[in-house]
Amino acid sequence: MSDSTPRNIVIIGGGIMGCTTAYYISRHPSFLPSTRVTVLEASKHGAAQGASGKAGGLISKNAYPDELVGVSFREHVKLANEHNGTDRWGWRFVGCGSWTGRGEFIGDDITGGPAGHGESLKKSLGVTEISSNSTKSSSKAKGLPDDLTWVKKDLTDSYSAWTSAGDTAQVHPYLFTTSMLELAKERGVQYIGGKATSVEMSDGRTTGVTYIAAANDKHKETIPATDVILCAGAWSNTLPGINIPSSAVRAHSITIRPPAEAIISPYVLFTEITLPPSSSSRRGTIVEPEIYARPGNEVYACGPGDDEPLPETVDDVIVDDTACDDIRQHVASISQELRDGKVEKRQACFLPVVTVRKKAPGRKVKTIQGPIIGEARMFAKGLFIATGHTCWGICNAPGTGKAMAELVMDGKISCANLQKLDPVEFM
Ligand SMILES: Cc1cc2nc3c(=O)[nH]c(=O)nc-3n(C[C@H](O)[C@H](O)[C@H](O)COP(=O)(O)OP(=O)(O)OC[C@H]3O[C@@H](n4cnc5c(N)ncnc54)[C@H](O)[C@@H]3O)c2cc1C
Repeated sequence: MSDSTPRNIVIIGGGIMGCTTAYYISRHPSFLPSTRVTVLEASKHGAAQGASGKAGGLISKNAYPDELVGVSFREHVKLANEHNGTDRWGWRFVGCGSWTGRGEFIGDDITGGPAGHGESLKKSLGVTEISSNSTKSSSKAKGLPDDLTWVKKDLTDSYSAWTSAGDTAQVHPYLFTTSMLELAKERGVQYIGGKATSVEMSDGRTTGVTYIAAANDKHKETIPATDVILCAGAWSNTLPGINIPSSAVRAHSITIRPPAEAIISPYVLFTEITLPPSSSSRRGTIVEPEIYARPGNEVYACGPGDDEPLPETVDDVIVDDTACDDIRQHVASISQELRDGKVEKRQACFLPVVTVRKKAPGRKVKTIQGPIIGEARMFAKGLFIATGHTCWGICNAPGTGKAMAELVMDGKISCANLQKLDPVEFM
């Protein structure tokens, strides 16, 4: 490809990685009127139908991997200032901490599972909690901040803040993702509802993407492509010939609308709740739902992951009502406001996970975690991958999008050193 060849960039996946990457490409200094960028999304219902529309939305300097968090946090602040993120996607700083205590009997028989039996989403991996004294609580309940009134003091054993004020924020993931896409479209990015079935390659470089239109599942078309960016989340390993060491974990979540008079202060809680005994769960069962207060009197709560197999597309994800009921019962057992609230959404999605066990010459086998970010030349020149962001993709999307835009448009990443996340480290 010569320098004068017009760029024809196809992004596979309209989740937060695909839409944010499209946004940053459309703002890149080398983006020309002749640069064609297409976001291809398999869902019949538009962008952000997977994890990117159904996540909690926590943005934290305590996230991982470090390489991406610094640039991503800075970019989140910048994006919110530039595009009025407060009104547009619910951007705000929040308190965040680990809450430990006891759930109380709420009239229903509270069970531990299935929501109580899977693996927690592990957001707290590697997090150093700040001493609870920093919250200056006057409450007898250990460490509970004075304005965190929507969990019961008498059920609280301890609260430890995760970060200092200003180091933790939130967005509404669906609104953030769709806003990124809309802002990219304003600069000429195209959106197509269609499922990629293969990446076309010739002489060791990408030449196109073949897809089936989401609205017409019989007819195949090929879009020519000088560059292909694979951002298919949990589905990133499903295209023929592109073997990525990624897997998928399903997780359920609900949203609750507390009564209008309830005061829900801005906190995100990582709970450890010891349930009261019930006919189906033994005394002392511990569950760990995450609870996110959101602007507009909404509370989001999610449960652990399970091992349901990945379905064909995001539109085929099955929601297990029992898992949603469990999350509701668990959070209601520590909060009157959530107990009195109305459950509005019951949903499930698949988290993209990349874990590889690798042996360096003469060294022990070590486990390395994604995300994978970079050009996958082992498959083809012009094929880029941004996937495997596990439970921190909302936080790390702006850093990923900016890095991908630099790599595709300039040939190198300047905003951060992402060498450790390069595809060559994983494959
Ligand atoms: C319960 C839960 C809570 C979470 N909370 C947080 C949080 O608080 N903070 C945080 O930072 N992260 C959080 N996350 C993680 C975050 O949601 C993910 O890391 C992120 O959404 C992944 O984005 P993605 O774009 O890679 O994948 P996805 O959102 O899955 O998007 C991939 C898209 O690609 C499309 N696609 C797949 N295959 C094809 C194909 N062949 N052709 C075309 N399109 C295709 C899919 O339909 C999908 O829309 C949470 C995740 C879960 C499950």
